[in-house]
Amino acid sequence: MNAPLLPGHPHMAYRGTDLFCEQVRLADLAQAHGTPLYVYSKAAMLDALAAYQRGFAGRKVQICYAMKANSSLAVLQLFARAGCGFDIVSGGELARVLAAGGDASKVIFSGVGKTRAEMRQALAAGIGCFNVESEAELEVLNEVALGMGAQAPVSIRVNPNVDAKTHPYISTGLKGNKFGVAHERTLATYQRAAALPGLRVVGIDCHIGSQITEVSPYLDAVDRVLDLVQGIEAAGIAIHHIDFGGGLGITYNGETPPAADALWQQLLAKLDARGYGDRQLMIEPGRSLVGNAGVCLTEVLYLKPGEQKNFCIVDAAMNDLPRPAMYEAFHGIVPLHARSGATTTYDVVGPVCESGDWLGRDRALAVHSGDLLAVLSAGAYCASMASTYNTRGRAAEILVDGSQAVLIRPRESAADTFKNEILPS
Ligand SMILES: *Cc1c(COP(=O)(O)O)cnc(C)c1O
Repeated sequence: MNAPLLPGHPHMAYRGTDLFCEQVRLADLAQAHGTPLYVYSKAAMLDALAAYQRGFAGRKVQICYAMKANSSLAVLQLFARAGCGFDIVSGGELARVLAAGGDASKVIFSGVGKTRAEMRQALAAGIGCFNVESEAELEVLNEVALGMGAQAPVSIRVNPNVDAKTHPYISTGLKGNKFGVAHERTLATYQRAAALPGLRVVGIDCHIGSQITEVSPYLDAVDRVLDLVQGIEAAGIAIHHIDFGGGLGITYNGETPPAADALWQQLLAKLDARGYGDRQLMIEPGRSLVGNAGVCLTEVLYLKPGEQKNFCIVDAAMNDLPRPAMYEAFHGIVPLHARSGATTTYDVVGPVCESGDWLGRDRALAVHSGDLLAVLSAGAYCASMASTYNTRGRAAEILVDGSQAVLIRPRESAADTFKNEILPS
């Protein structure tokens, strides 16, 4: 067993037979805090951010962490202290940013269904920009802002109609998607925005999808967005910032996405060539900052051999790791303590009463009941998507920094899961 077994997880490696996160033996954390347990490497998050910062060295850029990927307060605090703003998609996320000490003026608010109450909350907090996703939303935001005697800073999310070549559920930049304003309607929408007294046009944005592993969709999107900027500015509407969204993929199972700095070198060359290199830029990375900084530890409860399939039943489930059930997504699964000996092929499944409750299919593992496993790439879209289905309290979360491991969220008890419920008298 050696480090290449964990591709993409720079701060997780075997030392001898035991898997470590930075200087901390993961089995020790499982022992101390129980399982399932999310464990994040602070260094891995900061390294991922540093790759973007290198890529943008010398440029005007605001990196807005797309916090829905992992919205734990300690993670937000880490990125806020590193200078990040935040891309939010709800009023609840804004409350989290403020609770974590984030700066409202560096918040941008995306999402197709912002309510009036959320708009008021964001205006009162003084967020940096609303990424407006439809013509109808523009009218409502104008009304809400005027009602508060305010002017809302807006960017319009354009749908560049490029294929991000990713899973259909996480592709967002094609014509058939619910996101953004159609390419052909963009200029008219900007003209409307510029005419509304409650709005102040500040930028343009796009976000074409998630888990993108190729450069070409980004290059296409940059071209299409710059074409639009050219047209909008020719019509007399100044575009202060250009926001290219997030979406860069990570290695789950052999994918080879470009590194953030290499990707941005190419995209900035295109911006330079077209004369937009000195614009204020924004990006909204989520998964690529946190995904491979985290693992979820789980214990093998039972091995259940079968005629067609062998099952390895573990104590983590679809409520803790929803991506396989939602998108048939792949997570690597490795032992915390490597055993020698023959492997058996298992479907690794959780205890939840759903056939969709599987974490990995056809995995070759040498395991006994009581063994501990790490589900890899669990830093993004796992804890933040977790539910209490089957009245399973949400798992605890640990942030590792060198040899220190800090509990950043205790395990939820069953009582926690129903503490706000009311029995009618
Ligand atoms: C989810 C989302 C992101 C981040 O996507 P990743 O694939 O996690 O980088 C960025 N912008 C918007 C508008 C989003 O909805």
